[in-house]
Amino acid sequence: MSTPAPVLALLGGTFDPIHYGHLRAAWEAAEQLDAQVCLMPANVPPHRPQPRLSAEQRVQLLELALAGQQRLALDTRELRRDGPSYTVDTLRELREEIGAARPLVLLLGTDAFAGLPSWSRWLQLFELAHIGVMTRPGAAPALSPELHAQFLARACAVDGDWRGQGAGRILSLDITDLDISATGIRNLLARGQEPRFLLPEAVLAQIRQRGWYR
Ligand code: ATP
Repeated sequence: MSTPAPVLALLGGTFDPIHYGHLRAAWEAAEQLDAQVCLMPANVPPHRPQPRLSAEQRVQLLELALAGQQRLALDTRELRRDGPSYTVDTLRELREEIGAARPLVLLLGTDAFAGLPSWSRWLQLFELAHIGVMTRPGAAPALSPELHAQFLARACAVDGDWRGQGAGRILSLDITDLDISATGIRNLLARGQEPRFLLPEAVLAQIRQRGWYR
Protein backbone atom coordinates (compact mmCIF):
# COMPACT_ATOMS: atom_id res chain seq x y z
CA MET A 1 0.00 0.00 0.00
CA SER A 2 1.34 3.49 -0.81
CA THR A 3 1.89 5.93 2.04
CA PRO A 4 -0.92 8.49 2.34
CA ALA A 5 -0.18 12.02 1.12
CA PRO A 6 0.77 14.32 4.00
CA VAL A 7 -1.75 16.72 5.46
CA LEU A 8 -1.73 20.13 3.80
CA ALA A 9 -2.72 23.13 5.93
CA LEU A 10 -3.26 26.74 4.92
CA LEU A 11 -2.94 29.91 6.95
CA GLY A 12 -4.44 32.87 5.13
CA GLY A 13 -4.09 36.46 6.26
CA THR A 14 -3.04 39.92 5.24
CA PHE A 15 0.39 39.55 6.91
CA ASP A 16 0.77 43.33 7.13
CA PRO A 17 3.42 42.53 8.36
CA ILE A 18 4.15 38.86 9.14
CA HIS A 19 5.06 38.44 12.83
CA TYR A 20 5.95 35.76 15.38
CA GLY A 21 2.27 35.28 16.32
CA HIS A 22 1.64 33.98 12.77
CA LEU A 23 4.90 32.06 12.53
CA ARG A 24 4.74 30.29 15.87
CA ALA A 25 1.04 29.41 15.37
CA ALA A 26 1.79 28.03 11.88
CA TRP A 27 4.77 26.07 13.22
CA GLU A 28 2.85 24.54 16.11
CA ALA A 29 -0.05 23.67 13.77
CA ALA A 30 2.46 21.95 11.45
CA GLU A 31 3.75 19.88 14.36
CA GLN A 32 0.37 19.04 15.89
CA LEU A 33 -1.18 18.05 12.55
CA ASP A 34 2.03 16.60 11.10
CA ALA A 35 1.38 18.84 8.12
CA GLN A 36 3.03 21.05 5.59
CA VAL A 37 1.68 24.56 6.20
CA CYS A 38 1.36 27.17 3.46
CA LEU A 39 1.05 30.83 4.34
CA MET A 40 -1.28 32.42 1.85
CA PRO A 41 -1.39 36.24 1.65
CA ALA A 42 -4.81 37.59 0.70
CA ASN A 43 -5.70 39.93 -2.10
CA VAL A 44 -7.83 42.43 -0.21
CA PRO A 45 -10.92 43.44 -2.19
CA PRO A 46 -11.10 47.16 -3.04
CA HIS A 47 -14.14 47.83 -0.80
CA ARG A 48 -12.30 46.58 2.32
CA PRO A 49 -9.67 48.56 4.31
CA GLN A 50 -6.45 48.14 2.35
CA PRO A 51 -3.24 46.78 3.91
CA ARG A 52 -0.56 49.41 4.42
CA LEU A 53 1.90 47.49 2.25
CA SER A 54 1.34 46.32 -1.31
CA ALA A 55 1.05 42.61 -2.03
CA GLU A 56 4.62 42.57 -3.39
CA GLN A 57 5.99 44.22 -0.26
CA ARG A 58 4.13 41.81 2.04
CA VAL A 59 5.44 38.87 0.00
CA GLN A 60 9.00 40.19 0.30
CA LEU A 61 8.63 40.20 4.09
CA LEU A 62 7.08 36.72 4.08
CA GLU A 63 10.02 35.40 2.04
CA LEU A 64 12.48 36.88 4.53
CA ALA A 65 10.53 35.38 7.44
CA LEU A 66 10.37 31.89 5.93
CA ALA A 67 13.99 31.64 4.78
CA GLY A 68 16.03 28.74 6.14
CA GLN A 69 13.29 26.19 6.85
CA GLN A 70 11.14 23.84 4.75
CA ARG A 71 8.07 23.16 6.84
CA LEU A 72 6.30 26.47 6.27
CA ALA A 73 5.90 27.49 2.63
CA LEU A 74 4.44 30.45 0.78
CA ASP A 75 1.47 30.20 -1.60
CA THR A 76 0.75 33.38 -3.56
CA ARG A 77 -2.13 32.05 -5.69
CA GLU A 78 -4.66 34.55 -4.30
CA LEU A 79 -2.44 37.45 -5.35
CA ARG A 80 -2.28 36.18 -8.92
CA ARG A 81 -6.05 36.12 -9.22
CA ASP A 82 -7.89 39.28 -10.26
CA GLY A 83 -10.60 40.55 -7.98
CA PRO A 84 -11.51 39.53 -4.44
CA SER A 85 -10.10 36.28 -3.17
CA TYR A 86 -12.84 34.19 -1.64
CA THR A 87 -11.41 31.35 0.42
CA VAL A 88 -14.06 28.97 -0.87
CA ASP A 89 -12.84 29.50 -4.46
CA THR A 90 -9.22 29.07 -3.40
CA LEU A 91 -10.00 25.81 -1.62
CA ARG A 92 -11.92 24.55 -4.66
CA GLU A 93 -8.95 25.31 -6.89
CA LEU A 94 -6.61 23.52 -4.48
CA ARG A 95 -8.93 20.51 -4.29
CA GLU A 96 -8.70 20.14 -8.05
CA GLU A 97 -4.93 20.01 -7.72
CA ILE A 98 -4.63 17.62 -4.78
CA GLY A 99 -7.72 15.42 -5.25
CA ALA A 100 -10.62 14.75 -2.89
CA ALA A 101 -8.91 12.41 -0.44
CA ARG A 102 -5.91 14.36 0.84
CA PRO A 103 -6.67 16.02 4.18
CA LEU A 104 -6.66 19.78 3.81
CA VAL A 105 -6.89 22.01 6.90
CA LEU A 106 -7.82 25.68 6.83
CA LEU A 107 -6.15 27.29 9.87
CA LEU A 108 -7.91 30.17 11.60
CA GLY A 109 -7.22 32.04 14.84
CA THR A 110 -10.15 32.09 17.26
CA ASP A 111 -10.98 35.66 16.16
CA ALA A 112 -11.10 34.71 12.48
CA PHE A 113 -13.09 31.54 13.23
CA ALA A 114 -15.81 33.54 15.03
CA GLY A 115 -16.18 35.67 11.89
CA LEU A 116 -16.66 32.68 9.57
CA PRO A 117 -20.43 33.11 9.02
CA SER A 118 -19.73 36.43 7.28
CA TRP A 119 -17.54 34.70 4.67
CA SER A 120 -18.82 34.00 1.19
CA ARG A 121 -20.54 30.56 0.99
CA TRP A 122 -19.07 29.63 4.38
CA LEU A 123 -20.87 26.33 4.80
CA GLN A 124 -19.22 25.05 1.62
CA LEU A 125 -15.84 25.45 3.33
CA PHE A 126 -16.60 22.30 5.35
CA GLU A 127 -17.03 20.30 2.13
CA LEU A 128 -13.57 21.38 0.99
CA ALA A 129 -11.40 21.38 4.11
CA HIS A 130 -11.17 20.65 7.79
CA ILE A 131 -10.95 23.78 9.94
CA GLY A 132 -8.13 24.07 12.48
CA VAL A 133 -8.96 26.65 15.14
CA MET A 134 -5.83 28.09 16.76
CA THR A 135 -6.11 29.68 20.21
CA ARG A 136 -5.14 33.33 20.28
CA PRO A 137 -4.72 35.53 23.39
CA GLY A 138 -7.59 37.83 24.28
CA ALA A 139 -11.20 37.09 25.03
CA ALA A 140 -12.46 34.41 22.65
CA PRO A 141 -15.26 36.04 20.64
CA ALA A 142 -18.71 34.45 21.02
CA LEU A 143 -19.79 32.08 18.24
CA SER A 144 -23.07 32.72 16.45
CA PRO A 145 -25.71 30.00 16.99
CA GLU A 146 -25.18 28.63 13.43
CA LEU A 147 -21.43 28.41 13.88
CA HIS A 148 -21.79 26.91 17.35
CA ALA A 149 -24.06 24.21 15.88
CA GLN A 150 -21.42 23.42 13.24
CA PHE A 151 -18.77 23.27 15.94
CA LEU A 152 -20.77 20.77 18.00
CA ALA A 153 -21.50 18.59 14.98
CA ARG A 154 -17.97 18.61 13.56
CA ALA A 155 -15.55 18.89 16.51
CA CYS A 156 -12.84 16.23 16.46
CA ALA A 157 -9.77 15.69 18.65
CA VAL A 158 -6.42 16.32 16.99
CA ASP A 159 -5.52 12.67 17.66
CA GLY A 160 -8.97 11.56 16.39
CA ASP A 161 -9.90 9.97 13.07
CA TRP A 162 -10.06 13.09 10.87
CA ARG A 163 -7.06 12.04 8.74
CA GLY A 164 -9.22 9.41 7.07
CA GLN A 165 -11.37 12.18 5.57
CA GLY A 166 -10.36 14.98 3.25
CA ALA A 167 -12.60 17.61 4.86
CA GLY A 168 -15.44 18.34 7.26
CA ARG A 169 -14.12 18.30 10.84
CA ILE A 170 -13.21 21.10 13.25
CA LEU A 171 -9.94 20.63 15.15
CA SER A 172 -9.00 22.76 18.16
CA LEU A 173 -5.29 23.51 18.29
CA ASP A 174 -3.72 24.69 21.50
CA ILE A 175 -1.14 27.30 20.48
CA THR A 176 1.39 29.04 22.75
CA ASP A 177 -0.10 32.41 23.68
CA LEU A 178 1.78 35.20 21.92
CA ASP A 179 -0.15 38.42 22.22
CA ILE A 180 1.24 39.89 19.01
CA SER A 181 -0.79 41.55 16.26
CA ALA A 182 0.15 43.30 13.05
CA THR A 183 -1.92 46.28 14.23
CA GLY A 184 0.21 46.57 17.38
CA ILE A 185 3.40 46.42 15.31
CA ARG A 186 2.16 49.05 12.84
CA ASN A 187 1.21 51.32 15.76
CA LEU A 188 4.67 51.03 17.33
CA LEU A 189 6.34 51.86 14.02
CA ALA A 190 4.00 54.80 13.41
CA ARG A 191 5.01 56.20 16.81
CA GLY A 192 8.68 55.81 15.91
CA GLN A 193 9.15 52.91 18.36
CA GLU A 194 10.87 49.67 17.55
CA PRO A 195 8.85 46.43 17.58
CA ARG A 196 11.97 44.37 18.22
CA PHE A 197 11.45 40.69 19.18
CA LEU A 198 7.85 40.69 17.93
CA LEU A 199 8.84 39.71 14.40
CA PRO A 200 11.93 38.22 12.72
CA GLU A 201 14.95 40.48 12.70
CA ALA A 202 15.36 40.27 8.91
CA VAL A 203 11.74 41.44 8.50
CA LEU A 204 12.22 44.37 10.85
CA ALA A 205 15.50 45.31 9.15
CA GLN A 206 13.77 45.46 5.76
CA ILE A 207 10.87 47.52 7.16
CA ARG A 208 13.32 49.98 8.69
CA GLN A 209 15.52 50.19 5.63
CA ARG A 210 12.53 50.98 3.39
CA GLY A 211 10.89 53.29 5.91
CA TRP A 212 7.62 51.32 5.79
CA TYR A 213 4.73 51.97 8.24
CA ARG A 214 6.08 55.33 9.39
P1 ATP B 1 -4.17 42.83 12.04
O1 ATP B 1 -3.72 43.26 13.42
O2 ATP B 1 -3.68 43.71 10.91
O3 ATP B 1 -5.67 42.55 11.99
P2 ATP B 1 -3.25 40.10 12.53
O4 ATP B 1 -2.04 40.22 13.38
O5 ATP B 1 -4.55 39.68 13.19
O6 ATP B 1 -3.46 41.44 11.70
P3 ATP B 1 -3.76 38.56 10.13
O7 ATP B 1 -2.88 38.56 8.93
O8 ATP B 1 -5.07 39.24 10.04
O9 ATP B 1 -2.88 39.13 11.36
O10 ATP B 1 -3.97 37.08 10.66
C1 ATP B 1 -3.98 35.93 9.84
C2 ATP B 1 -4.39 34.73 10.66
O11 ATP B 1 -3.43 34.49 11.71
C3 ATP B 1 -5.75 34.87 11.36
O12 ATP B 1 -6.43 33.60 11.29
C4 ATP B 1 -5.38 35.21 12.79
O13 ATP B 1 -6.37 34.79 13.72
C5 ATP B 1 -4.08 34.42 12.98
N1 ATP B 1 -3.20 35.07 13.97
C6 ATP B 1 -2.64 36.31 13.87
N2 ATP B 1 -1.91 36.59 14.96
C7 ATP B 1 -1.98 35.50 15.77
C8 ATP B 1 -1.43 35.19 17.08
N3 ATP B 1 -0.68 36.07 17.75
N4 ATP B 1 -1.71 33.96 17.60
C9 ATP B 1 -2.51 33.08 16.92
N5 ATP B 1 -3.06 33.31 15.70
C10 ATP B 1 -2.80 34.52 15.13
